[in-house]
Amino acid sequence: MIYRIVSEAGEVVVSPKAGSVSIAYNGNPVDYFDRDGRLLGSQVGNRHYCRGLDNRLLEKYRRPEDGERVRNEVQEPARQRIITAAYERAGIVADMLNRNLTECKPTHPNEIAPLLPPRDVLASALNPILAYGYERLCLEATELRRMYVPVGILPPDQYLSVVAQLTTGCSYNGCTFCNFCRSRRFAVKSLDEFRRHLSEVTSFPATSARLRKSVFLGDGNALSLPQKTLLEVFGVLHEFFSFVPSQLREARERYAYRKSHPHSYEGVFSFVDGRAAWKKTVDDFRALKEQHLRRVYLGLESGDDALLAFVRKPATRSEMIDAVRRMKTAGLNVGVIAMVGVGGDRFAAAHVEQTIDAINAMELGDGDIVYLSDFVNHRGLPYERLARERGIRDLTGLELKAQRDEIRAGLHWKDPSEPAQVALYDIREFVY
Ligand code: SF4
Repeated sequence: MIYRIVSEAGEVVVSPKAGSVSIAYNGNPVDYFDRDGRLLGSQVGNRHYCRGLDNRLLEKYRRPEDGERVRNEVQEPARQRIITAAYERAGIVADMLNRNLTECKPTHPNEIAPLLPPRDVLASALNPILAYGYERLCLEATELRRMYVPVGILPPDQYLSVVAQLTTGCSYNGCTFCNFCRSRRFAVKSLDEFRRHLSEVTSFPATSARLRKSVFLGDGNALSLPQKTLLEVFGVLHEFFSFVPSQLREARERYAYRKSHPHSYEGVFSFVDGRAAWKKTVDDFRALKEQHLRRVYLGLESGDDALLAFVRKPATRSEMIDAVRRMKTAGLNVGVIAMVGVGGDRFAAAHVEQTIDAINAMELGDGDIVYLSDFVNHRGLPYERLARERGIRDLTGLELKAQRDEIRAGLHWKDPSEPAQVALYDIREFVY
């Protein structure tokens, strides 16, 4: 249900949902809060702001002069000003409601009437927001930093997961373009350390099941651990989380279950590198699926073996195709990440052709995701030097778009009536 509040100052549209509340002021700005009152983000003019639990604020917009996408991490004092402004706007709406200065009604009169009068529904949406503010968000961010080594990366569909940080860093850490874990040594928590971590995470309100739907077993490459260890780890996860039964396959059934079991999660999601995945059997994956592993994310990057060797990925194209097929045979879903523009002009033609072939050979379908992620040539990483030495030029924005479109157009699915999802993945737009 959407509520319109009309006053002399204009129109405010409030949309309370199960997990969030949005408030639009004459169409723009629009602020988004979770149901506990934390600011999630704002749209102000042509700027979109995304706030993480760590209170980082990411600003995104298109430059009017050339349409180029710009991303900045907002620093103090601008961050405090932008966040505080969102809370002040919500405060004014609550004040207008309290003083009966408004006309307040649902915008869809034909919808089933809410159980409570509009004013009460709005008060229950606005009151938690009024109890929050910049100071409280800062305190939560401090608490979060105590619980986590900074969460470096998640797949976009998992930005709203609860991260269970079993490992930090990546067990391989050798890809020449990757800066996620470069300064981080690979470390694995003992089962007792993991229990203590989960005990803190699950008692932290910002990561409650009401707000977050899934559990992400992180960091990079957590599934690379030996199978016996992983089964013990999943045993510990079950001590802290309950999951929607896997026999409920329809989204409608799963949604109904979560509604009647508000502390349940959709399942466990995690990254794995190609070589570690290739070492696991169908039975290994099946055993993890029985423990509620739902989707595994694999950085294919390219289907071209020459390019994979150039960027020093730990696995070959055929190993990654094999690994994905084993996961699929075990009943898992996969998220396959392909890099658009990696290998620059030198590798472009083979990269497009072989990446399409490799993904098509994986026989993906409903529940799987193909992420197309624009390659970022980070300064100072080995890729930059190696590419320079070989005279490889990065693709321009237009060339990236053309390559992205070409890969997307070439993809097909095991059953065309049950396609996988294809989505963009911009690693520069991540906050947790
Ligand atoms: S396997 Fe993934 S996380 Fe590890 S170095 Fe390569 S790209 Fe980075």
